[in-house]
Amino acid sequence: MTPFAEVAIPLPVHDGFTYRVPAELPLQVGHAVTVPFGKKRLTGYVTSLSLSPPDDVALKDVIQVVDPEPAFGAAQLEFFRWISDYYLAPLGEVIATALPAAYRARSRVVYRPLPAGVEAIATRSGIGADAELVLREIVAHPGRTRRGLERMLFSELSADVVGKSLGVLAAAGLVAVGTIEARAPGARVATVELTGKENEAIDLGGARMRGVLARLVEMGGRADVDEIVEREGSGARSAIGRLAERGFVRLGEREDRRAAMGERGARDTAKQLNEAQQAARDAIAASTDDVFLLHGVTGSGKTEVYLQVADAVLATGRQVLVLVPEISLTPQLCGRFAARFGDSIAVLHSALTPTDRLREWRRIRAREANVAIGARSALFAPFTDLGLVVVDEEHDDSYKQEDGVRYHARDLAVVLGRLMKCPVVLGSATPSLESYTNALDGRYRRLLLPVRATPRPVPKIELVDMRGRPTDSALSVELVQALGETFAEGGKAIVLFNRRGYAPTVECPGCGAHYACPSCGIELVLHKKQGRLLCHYCGFFRNREDRCPACSTPFVVLGFGTERIEEELAHAFPGVGILRMDADTTASRGSHARILDAFRDTDARILVGTQLVAKGHDFPEVTLAAVVGVDHLLLLPDFRSAERTHALVTQLAGRAGRGTTPGRVLVQTRHGDHFVFRELADASQDLTRDHFYEEESRGRKALLYPPFTRLALVRIEGADRSRTVDVARALGTSLRSRIGGERGRIDVLGPTAAPLGRLVGRWRFQLVVRGRDPQAFRRWMRGVRPLFARAPHGGVRVSVDVDPRNLM
Ligand code: ADP
Ligand code: ZN
Ligand code: ZN
Repeated sequence: MTPFAEVAIPLPVHDGFTYRVPAELPLQVGHAVTVPFGKKRLTGYVTSLSLSPPDDVALKDVIQVVDPEPAFGAAQLEFFRWISDYYLAPLGEVIATALPAAYRARSRVVYRPLPAGVEAIATRSGIGADAELVLREIVAHPGRTRRGLERMLFSELSADVVGKSLGVLAAAGLVAVGTIEARAPGARVATVELTGKENEAIDLGGARMRGVLARLVEMGGRADVDEIVEREGSGARSAIGRLAERGFVRLGEREDRRAAMGERGARDTAKQLNEAQQAARDAIAASTDDVFLLHGVTGSGKTEVYLQVADAVLATGRQVLVLVPEISLTPQLCGRFAARFGDSIAVLHSALTPTDRLREWRRIRAREANVAIGARSALFAPFTDLGLVVVDEEHDDSYKQEDGVRYHARDLAVVLGRLMKCPVVLGSATPSLESYTNALDGRYRRLLLPVRATPRPVPKIELVDMRGRPTDSALSVELVQALGETFAEGGKAIVLFNRRGYAPTVECPGCGAHYACPSCGIELVLHKKQGRLLCHYCGFFRNREDRCPACSTPFVVLGFGTERIEEELAHAFPGVGILRMDADTTASRGSHARILDAFRDTDARILVGTQLVAKGHDFPEVTLAAVVGVDHLLLLPDFRSAERTHALVTQLAGRAGRGTTPGRVLVQTRHGDHFVFRELADASQDLTRDHFYEEESRGRKALLYPPFTRLALVRIEGADRSRTVDVARALGTSLRSRIGGERGRIDVLGPTAAPLGRLVGRWRFQLVVRGRDPQAFRRWMRGVRPLFARAPHGGVRVSVDVDPRNLM
């Protein structure tokens, strides 16, 4: 008798499909297989085998096995099923998200927008409605494969139409088609770098060359040749050659990623733990399956605790998983693990090439590597005997995957620990309200590290009241004075401003004209060095003009961004070295590390940037941390705004005074009376005071927000506004009609327009499902799941985000 295989397919369809297994195929659960699906062949994953078919439908045969070794085992499959059930995501999509891309293909063809494509969205230059939809998707999510685009556009277009449209867009020069080859290990990569003469290139003929230069400036002056070509199109390659001949750029090479990863920090040996660290280490090492909240002030030596617990776990022969928010931002933590554990660590993150990723994956499965460090996707590495899970900076929002399967890696780490029967450590100086509440309720065990491991305490936060000050400068006299004193004493400073670009508004005082994104309706942000106005949501841009095209009045520039703060600082402190770190200067691979290294190793005195500058860095010479402004973050219409502001300022403050010299922290605000700022100024990381959490909890309880309720955000998006509204209303009505016996425990709110009401040409509406009891909520959501199933090509996209991080 021929057995049958249930195969999960990575499409927005919920059920697995049954196939016949040809006698010669020795299939096991976990095998990646090729199967016929409609007119196509797709990769799917075997999730069960049986001897009898489900019913008497005509079944097709499995075509082939992709890899003779199963891609996952029974324990992992249980984890995948849990994720699929909790996040209401098709099992096939969960598995496809979890496995390295190399399981799907040797090389990938990816699509990126070219400047002409970005322009075409604004001008609607007759490319046809279908191609326009595909183009918007590529502009919003550069670098997707054809299959990825088909999946995203499942509600709008058939796969055939997506394929045809891609052909049209490529032929019209609107998108660039690139191939990501699996690179050989140790391969060298061609790089290009500005020589500093780019200002002389102003009247350089040739749009290509000018485009390449602008792109290089934006990317921080240095990039891989391939990155430039991906973004500017294939003509960029010869333009780079011409620029090099004229001396505007220099060509070079760098080692591929693997070499950088192997770079070890100074040989690191175990430190003598202080009392609090020792108590924390002992509690974790003695535990078999607890979840710990390691709540330690910035610089309290949490990493040293992770390292020593990991050491104990490795000694018992088990494996260790360490999750970090974004690997490029935490080179120091990786370096310390590498220095302590050498070759037995595997590093997993999105910047690895598919082959490198697959190799790291196999090293873990073969137990060549027993410590895995990585961003959220490292959760899915094929551990055979996991003995410890660490989640560093557990409050960080980047643990949440924001498209596809919308999982939260910190929450899944806790689930993984339960399935694998091992302790889980969540570490932070600013725990999320969720984890804090879990600790308070006794579900997690809270371990405190109340003081720094280094000689100096965490500095107190000084507020600078900005009310009534002139608005033409972002820097207060207090801040300028503090910076001057810092430099005079030989110290360095980190300056935070939470918005990139030069200024958020360019306006005509004559007629009121201003720049908005044609696809998003949102104000374009001025990027002065690039000479462009840019949409931060979809990448659309316009060249900057000095005068209003309508009435010729000179434009005025209003507000601030990191680029303008940098300019002000340079003006106030001529000759002082300044480095800027934000999404613009860190667009190229390895640029985070380059900026951080330069800040440590050169005589640059100021690191200015967005929230990127507040993450876990340890620079003993930094004695001043300053917040130029976070008020706009506090005022965002989102229930986590206060929590995010509190965490960001606390984390930034934690960068100061980590060496032998005491630090100072200045925070400029117009909302000094808000409880967040009052608490920050009063408590300054005194862990015995829980006022912030108490006050924030009171507010959340009163307004029925998490962690005291559960939320699911149902997003309804479509290019046709009235059709989208209709779908949203109908969905709201059917959800409400299912509340039944859960009245009082389940609420359905909306539909309302999303705060960002239109993005990339799609109108956005939302429903919020709120549950007051976690169990009942989960059960109910499971029951209504079929209502969210996406109708193929209906033109309106419905997505569900369980435990959303924000409601924007
Ligand atoms: P956190 O992760 O809590 O911010 P780190 O682990 O980065 O703190 O530690 C801050 C600094 O203190 C690091 O330079 C680290 O080497 C040092 N450190 C940690 N524990 C000890 C210890 N027990 N004795 C001496 N120095 C320590
Ligand atoms: Zn005007
Ligand atoms: Zn836009």
